[in-house]
Amino acid sequence: MNALAATNRNFKLASRLLGLDSKLEKSLLIPFREIKVECTIPKDDGTLASFVGFRVQHDNARGPMKGGIRYHPEVEPDEVNALAQLMTWKTAVAKIPYGGAKGGIGCDPSELSLSELERLTRVFTQKIHDLIGIHTDVPAPDMGTGPQTMAWILDEYSKFHGHSPAVVTGKPIDLGGSLGRDAATGRGVLFATEALLNEHGKTISGQRFAIQGFGNVGSWAAKLISDKGGKIVAVSDVTGAIKNNNGIDILSLLEHAEENRGIKGFDGADSIDPDSILVEDCDILVPAALGGVINRENANEIKAKFIIEGANHPTDPEADEILKKKGVMILPDIYANSGGVTVSYFEWVQNIQGFMWDEEKVNRELKTYMTRGFKDLKEMCQTHSCDLRMGAFTLGINRVAQATTIRGWGS
Ligand code: GLU
Repeated sequence: MNALAATNRNFKLASRLLGLDSKLEKSLLIPFREIKVECTIPKDDGTLASFVGFRVQHDNARGPMKGGIRYHPEVEPDEVNALAQLMTWKTAVAKIPYGGAKGGIGCDPSELSLSELERLTRVFTQKIHDLIGIHTDVPAPDMGTGPQTMAWILDEYSKFHGHSPAVVTGKPIDLGGSLGRDAATGRGVLFATEALLNEHGKTISGQRFAIQGFGNVGSWAAKLISDKGGKIVAVSDVTGAIKNNNGIDILSLLEHAEENRGIKGFDGADSIDPDSILVEDCDILVPAALGGVINRENANEIKAKFIIEGANHPTDPEADEILKKKGVMILPDIYANSGGVTVSYFEWVQNIQGFMWDEEKVNRELKTYMTRGFKDLKEMCQTHSCDLRMGAFTLGINRVAQATTIRGWGS
C-alpha cells in the first residue's frame, strides 16, 4: 500500500475510535501547505543537474511545524505527505509544543560529492527560507542528511534573516547543537523497548534482537541495547546483512562500518540474504530503515514477538492485521522513534534560552518524556480497547483535535 494511503487509513481508524466530526477530520487530514521547488546546481564537472525538493507543512495547531529533511531517491510527494502527517501525530504523542512537517530532495546522496551536496542544500534553502523559521517550521536531519546539512541550511538561512540557530535542530554542537541529539532516536528506541518489556515482566538483558538498518537510528539502538545486555543476532544495511546466533560484537561492527562505509565483509558474523533480516529468528525486531518493508509478503514469516518501529511507517496496514492475529506486539513509529524529535525540542529550547544543558540532563529528560508517552499511550489503549498503534494514533490525533477546536476557525 502506498505510504499516504496507509497513513490515512490509520488516521481514519483512529478518528472513528475517537468519534471525530467529519469536518474536523477533513481539516486535520489536509496539509497546511505543500511546497515543491526546482533545485538546479552545477556539478563538479561543470554540467548541470536538476532535482526536485519538497517541504510539506502538515499542521501547526500545537506549535511550529517540525520534521526532518530527507535526501533519498524515493522522496516523492505522497511519501513526504505521509511523513509530514506522521510528524504531527508524533509531536503530539511526545507532548512537545510542535506541529508536523517533512521535506526532502529526490536524489542519491551517495552519488554526489560533498561540494555538490552543499550547493544543493544551499539552493534548496534559498527556495524555502521565507517559509521556514524558528516559530513557523523547524527542519532537522533525516535519512541521507545530518549535522553538516543542518549547518549549511543554518548558514544560508542566516544570510537572509540574521544568525538564527533555532531554525534547525540536529546541528553540529559547535553551532548550537544539543549534546545527546545524535544518539537520541536510538536512545528513545531503547527507552521505548524497556517500557514495553517492563509491562511484560521482561528486561532487555538476554533478549535476542534483529535490527534492519545501521544508520543513525539502527546503529545507536544496537549499541545502547547491547550495552544493556541485549543480544544483537542479526543486522542489515544497504551493503548487506549479517547474522551470529551468539550475538554480534557491536563495537567491532561500528568500527568496521565506519572504515568500510557499511557492514558488508564484517568477519564476526555470517553473511545472509538482506531480505531475510525481517524474518530471522529473534525475540525483538527493530526495523530502522525504510517505510513499507513489513507487508503481506513477509508478515506471516516473522518470528519476533515484539516489533519496535525505529523507522517511519515500516509496517503496512495489511501486515498489521496479520501480525495482530499472530499475537505480535508492535510498538508504533510515532511513539517508538519519537526520541529524535524530542531531543530536537530540547535543542530548540536551549537555543532560545541561550543555555546549554549537559548530556546527562538531556538523557534524563528524554527518559521522562518516553516513559510518560508510553503511559499515556497505554491509557488510550484501555479507553478505546485498541492495540498499541491505535493507542498512539488516538493519543496524538486527540491532542491535535483539541488544540484545533480550542483555537477555533477564525471566521
Ligand atoms: N527525522 C526525525 C523524525 O522522523 C527527527 C525530526 C526532528 O527532529 O524534527 O522523527
